[in-house]
Amino acid sequence: MSSRERAIKVQVPGDADAMQLVEVEVGDPGPGEVRIRHQACGINYIDVYHRSGAYPLPAPFGIGGEGAGLIEAVGEGVTHLAAGDRAAYASQPPGSYCTARVMPARNVVRLPDAIDFETGAAMMLKGLTAQYLLRRTLPQGGLQAGDFVLFHAAAGGVGLIACQWARALGLQLIGTAGSDEKCALAAELGAAFTINYRTENFVARVKEITGGRGVKVVYDSVGKDTWDGSLDCLQPFGLMASFGAASGPPAPVAVGTLAAKGSIYLTRPTLFTHIATHENTQAMADELFEVVGSGQVKIRIDQRYPLADAARAHRDLEARKTTGSSVLLP
Ligand code: NDP
Repeated sequence: MSSRERAIKVQVPGDADAMQLVEVEVGDPGPGEVRIRHQACGINYIDVYHRSGAYPLPAPFGIGGEGAGLIEAVGEGVTHLAAGDRAAYASQPPGSYCTARVMPARNVVRLPDAIDFETGAAMMLKGLTAQYLLRRTLPQGGLQAGDFVLFHAAAGGVGLIACQWARALGLQLIGTAGSDEKCALAAELGAAFTINYRTENFVARVKEITGGRGVKVVYDSVGKDTWDGSLDCLQPFGLMASFGAASGPPAPVAVGTLAAKGSIYLTRPTLFTHIATHENTQAMADELFEVVGSGQVKIRIDQRYPLADAARAHRDLEARKTTGSSVLLP
């Protein structure tokens, strides 16, 4: 089987207009691969890093690491999927902004019937990230119900899933966001406390909320703008989980700083280490499907765009105009 498909490609990294809609030939899957026809494609902030060249890729390259659709064919050795299956994934290499593609099967899982394609496309990369942050990236002694954690950009795609999941785990999530409306949304979806970090000093507020003690974990995906303050929000032996850089890369850390801040721990995790094997991907996805299926976590799709409007979607994301998840519709 071979067909002409539409895909977003980048020839030269740059601003949102670097993405162009082109025609591509898509053939049969090779060993360990599947061919999937997308019903929806997820948009993530990492797509901006790829497109801009902040995370360099050999050009020309595709964009997008999340999608959902129907399996059209499976390659040799693929046993967990079959033609006709409903499926969803978070995966590298990027290339989900397209009508159909051939890709490695390792990170593609069957999508439960109760979860529609748009939701599947909107939740895999973000939801598996929330899963590994709250369930696998833990301070010494783990997290117990009642513990305080600080989560920046709490009204974003990963953020709103984390707010709800943290509430389900009994955690007291303090969420920051860039407007009062975003704070209200994070609170509605499970943040125990919210801080508008554009108008309030988040370090002072965290100290106030926690009675001066600080939080056990800071989940920081904003980077440059929040970095120093985040380190000051931790309690002794707390964990700084730096997992993104929406405002730019954080400043380098002198090792002695970890002692000065109270014997704190620092980690810089990426989803792709956690989903390096199919077994881990499936186990993490099962947990995600469980919290979504039970209604504990609702996936909010607040922005929908046609595939051809990928540039507008990126502009909205970079301008901090979005909340929750965004999807492209092929
Ligand atoms: P979001 O929907 O959260 O969008 C990014 C948000 O970051 C914005 O809405 C904005 O919220 C906030 N932000 C703060 N400063 C800036 C700035 N200068 N420019 C733009 N945005 C800013 O995106 P995602 O849910 O897709 O991803 C969230 C973060 O998690 C990203 O940084 C992403 O790279 C990271 N990530 C990391 C993964 C990993 O494994 N390491 C995996 C998945 C995501 P506000 O206006 O409220 O400040």
